[in-house]
Amino acid sequence: MKVAVVGAGIVGLSAARFIAGRGHAVTVFEQFPLFHDRGSSHGRTRIVRKAYPSRFWTGLMTEAYSMWAELEAECGSPLVTECGLLYFGHQDSPRIQEGVDSLASLGVPHEVLPPPHCAEKLSGLQLAPDEVGIFTPEAGYVRADLALQATHSLALAKGATFVHDVADPYELAKEFDIVVLATGAWVNRLVPDLAAVPTRQTFAYVRTPIIGAVWIDDTTLAYGFPSDELGAKIGAHEHGPITNPDELGIPHAPHLGQIRETLRSRFGVDDPVLQEVTTCIYTSTSDEMFRMGWITDQIAFVSSCSGHGFKLGPWVGRKLADIVEGGAIPEEFQ
Ligand SMILES: Cc1cc2nc3c(=O)[nH]c(=O)nc-3n(C[C@H](O)[C@H](O)[C@H](O)COP(=O)(O)OP(=O)(O)OC[C@H]3O[C@@H](n4cnc5c(N)ncnc54)[C@H](O)[C@@H]3O)c2cc1C
Repeated sequence: MKVAVVGAGIVGLSAARFIAGRGHAVTVFEQFPLFHDRGSSHGRTRIVRKAYPSRFWTGLMTEAYSMWAELEAECGSPLVTECGLLYFGHQDSPRIQEGVDSLASLGVPHEVLPPPHCAEKLSGLQLAPDEVGIFTPEAGYVRADLALQATHSLALAKGATFVHDVADPYELAKEFDIVVLATGAWVNRLVPDLAAVPTRQTFAYVRTPIIGAVWIDDTTLAYGFPSDELGAKIGAHEHGPITNPDELGIPHAPHLGQIRETLRSRFGVDDPVLQEVTTCIYTSTSDEMFRMGWITDQIAFVSSCSGHGFKLGPWVGRKLADIVEGGAIPEEFQ
């Protein structure tokens, strides 16, 4: 079949890799230069984890997690660092309690740690005596930039070609058998009935050395990564302002305030140096579920951001290859 993939973020590139790998003739259309910073997949790192405190996502991640190792083997480069994830907050917080209960019921390896042991997992972390951390060792981060490049190289090696252009799916449908829309925050332009809201998220690299696990603060939903040569990446997960993806991103002042406050209250840094401040777009559905579907019998779409789509990028790409070949769309994503 001749298949057009629109969008070269992690989802479109992964779809191209798998669809081309099955012998179809794939052309990828991307409106910006490859690896640009205007959508959702740019930046150095993303959190990956094998388990969520949810049976549905943990089931999916069990399949998806091993796909990162397969990608590493195929491209010959390490992409994932398994440094563990520390999720911390008040011991009575419903999210903490539900998290512990569901990890236990799913049989996922985890430890519930008091404050001094949390600081052993994450250097300099300051918690109140009535706070705890949930540590899951099968988690860490993927080098998002390297993963995009590796997926692109593999798609090319399997015969995919790339066109730098704004694509009109209805025009493409005259030339291609199937068109797959993996257009991230632009999905509403092409699938107007989809209730997916693009919001502008802000993250920064700070010079403060932070060593150990990736982390999420249950109280503010700030999250962060251990330091590398760019610094320690810290971001705000709370949804930022609704945004027009065509516009250049402006950092959201309340997110910057939250990043500074997190550094002050959690790591004892009163005057942090934010070395690089960047924005990125979440595209969220009300239930944080992904959406997939057909808008005509030739044009399929996917919307898989909602702040947690990178770790599932290869899985979604493979699922799109199944769908292109006549496979069913998972009920949960319809
Ligand atoms: C700040 C931030 C932190 C995140 N943290 C995590 C995390 O820790 N873990 C995790 O798993 N996920 C995380 N995510 C979510 C994850 O990054 C996204 O789910 C994922 O990158 C979405 O990829 P995508 O390919 O769907 O979208 P994109 O990367 O935006 O790709 C869509 C592409 O389609 C192109 N396009 C759109 N319309 C057209 C058209 N008509 N013609 C041609 N090209 C077009 C766009 O230019 C774009 O390149 C985070 C996201 C953000 C913003």
